[in-house]
Amino acid sequence: MIRGRFAPSPTGELHAGSLVAALASWLDARSLQGEWWVRMEDVDGPRCIDGAAAKILQQLSLCRLHSDGEVIYQSQRTDIYQQALNQLIAKGLAYPCACTRKEIEEQQVSLGLSLERHKSAVYPGTCRNGLDGKPARAWRFNVTQWSTLRGSHDVHWIDRRLGAQVQNVQEEVGDFVLKRADGLWAYQMAVVVDDAAQNISHVVRGEDLTDNTARQYLLQEALGFEHPHYLHTPLVLGVNGEKLSKQNDAKALDLSSPRAVCLAMQSAASTLGLSTLKLHSCDSADLDEALSTWTQEWTQKYLSASP
Ligand code: GLU
Repeated sequence: MIRGRFAPSPTGELHAGSLVAALASWLDARSLQGEWWVRMEDVDGPRCIDGAAAKILQQLSLCRLHSDGEVIYQSQRTDIYQQALNQLIAKGLAYPCACTRKEIEEQQVSLGLSLERHKSAVYPGTCRNGLDGKPARAWRFNVTQWSTLRGSHDVHWIDRRLGAQVQNVQEEVGDFVLKRADGLWAYQMAVVVDDAAQNISHVVRGEDLTDNTARQYLLQEALGFEHPHYLHTPLVLGVNGEKLSKQNDAKALDLSSPRAVCLAMQSAASTLGLSTLKLHSCDSADLDEALSTWTQEWTQKYLSASP
């Protein structure tokens, strides 16, 4: 069974960038005759906005993108993430960590390691061998231990658009967080558990998330899950050349009229290198026809040479 998914974080409405991920994952699933499921990644409660999930579903529906499965909400799945963490603890692959962000930065400086990695320091493994009497704050994945068990520090994976990828997670990221000091589940843990629980075979998402894939590969291995296929899409850039995101105030999509919906979809398709179709009336039949043409184009572009 082929199954793709779109997994927005309801920290705001859809914007032009998230519509690209929604459309790409939908086209990919359809071109493989598979299902497309929507999952709400509302695991970081404080960052979520009331009503955003419902609004996103409404926006998707205006764009003729409907989930084939029940929409699940990560905020309701904490027990499942805890079970996965318990499994890792039992295997000696997760450990509690007492370090504060400030302490990690100080450890970095004293070890002469580079401080910046997307503004968060590479964790030097301070609590790997015990807490030294300090209270536990977060839970971390023992990358070092798992890399030793799997026989390599390098994680190799293939992106269906970007080609062969490799990352040494231990050196470039360190033992990453599974459960945060504030008790919330880390994205890596929730996404890996849910992709497996929902039998997602094909992950299609924005290129800004590419760097997470090696970590997700390691967790999938350690939990005995299969790896989905991955494809990371081009990003929509804002005027400053940076990725459009809710953080840099990407405007909500204008979907206020059929014409506006067509323009938004045409622009998402063009970011994906698909042709700008002439949409005449912009009614749902017109949009469905465009989706079917884009599905054929997607097949030619990404499926003929896919691994
Ligand atoms: N929830 C993530 C986001 O909105 C997407 C995660 C994923 O597709 O793996 O950026």
